[in-house]
Amino acid sequence: MKTRIKNGNIVLEDACLAADIIIENGLIAEINPPQNVVADIEIDATGCVVLPGFIDPHTHMSLQQSEKFRAADDFYSGTIAAALGGTTTIIDHIAFSPVGSPLMTSINTYHQLAADAVIDYGFHGVIQRVDDDIIEELKDIIKNKGVSSFKAYSTYGFPVNDQDLLRLLAAIKEADGVLTVHCENDGITRYYNDMFAKEGKTEPRYYPQSRPNIAEAETVGRLIDWAHHVGDAPAYVVHTSARQSLERVRQARRRGQKNVYVETCTQYLMLDESLYQADQAQAARYIMAPPLRSKADQTALWQALLDGTIQTVGTDHCPFMLTEKRLGSADYRKAPGGIAGVQERGLVMYSEAVVKRDMPLVDFAKVMSTNAAKIFKCYPQKGVIKIGSDADLVILNPNRQCRLSADVLHSNCDYSPYQDYHAAACIEKVFSKGELIVEGNRFVGNKGDGQFLKR
Ligand code: MN
Repeated sequence: MKTRIKNGNIVLEDACLAADIIIENGLIAEINPPQNVVADIEIDATGCVVLPGFIDPHTHMSLQQSEKFRAADDFYSGTIAAALGGTTTIIDHIAFSPVGSPLMTSINTYHQLAADAVIDYGFHGVIQRVDDDIIEELKDIIKNKGVSSFKAYSTYGFPVNDQDLLRLLAAIKEADGVLTVHCENDGITRYYNDMFAKEGKTEPRYYPQSRPNIAEAETVGRLIDWAHHVGDAPAYVVHTSARQSLERVRQARRRGQKNVYVETCTQYLMLDESLYQADQAQAARYIMAPPLRSKADQTALWQALLDGTIQTVGTDHCPFMLTEKRLGSADYRKAPGGIAGVQERGLVMYSEAVVKRDMPLVDFAKVMSTNAAKIFKCYPQKGVIKIGSDADLVILNPNRQCRLSADVLHSNCDYSPYQDYHAAACIEKVFSKGELIVEGNRFVGNKGDGQFLKR
């Protein structure tokens, strides 16, 4: 069966092309086919932009954050929300397993959790400890199990120590994987959190100072320097928020360092720390790590996204309900950390980057999809409109606006960080592997049709 998407403005890797696309057997079969190619289904995309399905390289579906808190979205509700926002692939950061577990324990748990996903998904493995067995297993998983990226944490009371970071970088380089790191110096965050606790400064208004820019920038700098030291090991900074981190990245690129990748998230581009100064019950909604930063940081992040210093925009989608977030009204440590955004990202970024800041559509496709596919090794299956690639496509209508708010978004979460945002476009249709899964505001795909993406 053939589907023809007609008259769209197709965003290819290097240019836009006004043409048709033929989908067959879940793949992109032809681009700009002759008019006499007969299709069973015809989709009119006149006036619309046809983009490669977005990839969200940073989500936390079904996350059990602590004994008390579980993220509001599981892989079913969360991937429907993603799909409605034009995202056709997520790469989820998986949770820890009991102390002493091998690396495959968490990965196997997540294969179960993700069975209901409606779009394709990959996993970033997670490092809890480092020893000889873990290093061997890490290399084996990268080569043989379809999980080519792992995450290490520098904070939260279980930071990877210096020696282990070096071991990981060397092993990652050897196995041709990618080490992703949550960069916040543990000593600095502890210093401020302990001091603030003693001084009774536990309201959300103190939260951003408890995790200052230097905590992030220090660890970004260390990660990059050490990656360089072991021969430009592939290192990816997740959820970059501080302007000083970007200076470290630029310095690395100037000296010719390769394989340094940087992600930011929608929230760091859109929201700022003034939100922590509002009514404290409201402010608790924005407890996340790293925290929202200043307007100056936001401006620097936009500049870095537009000039290519930053490669990807993720969401860190990890929503909790208002009743849970409000537990942090008087003490930020009592709120679960994280916010929603997996559905909002596509239209917010299109409106802010393409419409307001003139980012070319080709660059937009790169930061929303192609770059993540390349870094995380699922290109050209994902992340590009190319013959032979999966027919993961978004048809975006730049002539019809829409409003984003919790009542129209699919996430189980009862608030959106982008409440009442007026998007400059809307999503008309989304295809996953050639199947129509979104039609306007409706999800029309099937539970469990998402597959594990071997990377
Ligand atoms: Mn995260």
